[in-house]
Amino acid sequence: MQGSAFTTFDPLARLRAAAAAREAAGLRRRLSPRSPQDAALDLASNDYLGLAGDPRLAEAAAAAARTWGTGATGSRLVTGTTSLHAELEAELAAFTAAQTALVFSSGYLANLAVVTALTAALGGEVLIVSDERNHASLIDACRLARAKGVRVQVTPHGDTAAIAAGLAGRREEAALVVTDAVFSVSGDLAPVAALHAIARHHRALLVIDEAHSFGVFGADGSGAAVAAGIAAEPDVVRTVTLSKSLGGQGGAVLAAAEVRQTLVDTGRGFIFDTGLAPPAAAAALAALRVLRSEPELPARARGAAARLAGIAAEFGLDIAMPDAAVASVILGDPLDALAAQRTCAEHGVRVGCFRPPSVPAGAACLRLTGRATLTENDFRVASRVLAIVRDHCRNTAQAGKEH
Ligand code: PMP
Repeated sequence: MQGSAFTTFDPLARLRAAAAAREAAGLRRRLSPRSPQDAALDLASNDYLGLAGDPRLAEAAAAAARTWGTGATGSRLVTGTTSLHAELEAELAAFTAAQTALVFSSGYLANLAVVTALTAALGGEVLIVSDERNHASLIDACRLARAKGVRVQVTPHGDTAAIAAGLAGRREEAALVVTDAVFSVSGDLAPVAALHAIARHHRALLVIDEAHSFGVFGADGSGAAVAAGIAAEPDVVRTVTLSKSLGGQGGAVLAAAEVRQTLVDTGRGFIFDTGLAPPAAAAALAALRVLRSEPELPARARGAAARLAGIAAEFGLDIAMPDAAVASVILGDPLDALAAQRTCAEHGVRVGCFRPPSVPAGAACLRLTGRATLTENDFRVASRVLAIVRDHCRNTAQAGKEH
């Protein structure tokens, strides 16, 4: 064997050094396993409707495990499609006014598959226009799609003029506009009706990720596209996750028949992935039926988030009023955000802490989520802990001045 020129290179030492640098910058991430006895107030999860612990979903999942087994046994095109998957797709499409639905094993994969398969099938040169705050799965989808002839233009957050200009000035025949419907950390709603008008005018497809709007936004929780009256438009492609408001696991694409067939024939995240486990499909189906029979749940989740944001704003914290169930307190420095999260945990409240690269540099934040099942006592506890966060911020600002 020929000797390498890099005789002193130690890859694990390199990893340790990189980890130490992340630690010093407040960017080290740690897993904190929940125990079944965990009594903390959850203001961090995406279980917006409180369905993840619902016995009706657990029973449906258990029954599916007994009928179908714990796994799908193969990819969707081989053995991984059961009648449950077909039933789930039909009910998802009906609830969201979609022509068709196609279920994936996660929302992440649904996003990867949609963007890569559509750009490839559109052929030749394609422009993808993507909002700078889109979720990592859409960003990764753009990266994966970036092949010969595919160009990605990242536009400033919510800048419809920049999107229109990008589409108008393109040299590529085909184009996609991709956006979150409700942005996963900032919690604001994209102007989906305006985006559709722009996309339609410029003969582009509009891809909307409804992960944080499905089950939460709109009168019955059917999402932002339905609320905007564009759900059934053939040039609108939606993705959803079954893991947030539906309290389970999995994802789906809601789209015209041509899009669904493209994904079935060519979507690598569909073809080469084991189908969604039947218990997860059954849980999602049960959750969808709960959502339909209890149409007050989405408004309750939105109301809970608005109330949390109102409390934080009253304390003078930097928070925007949420459009759905996500609200974030901007703290700026990652170390401050981490310290505030720790303070919340010490007082029995679990909140999210988002730091770069999940958010732009200087925009580290605490992410709070509203849940339909929050009680008056939960709001009292939340208020107490947010007051402590406010005091903590004041002390930090004071210390900053004294330095
Ligand atoms: N899109 C958005 C906006 C998300 O927040 C997430 C989950 N964090 C996903 C897609 C991925 O969905 P899943 O968790 O089902 O893979």
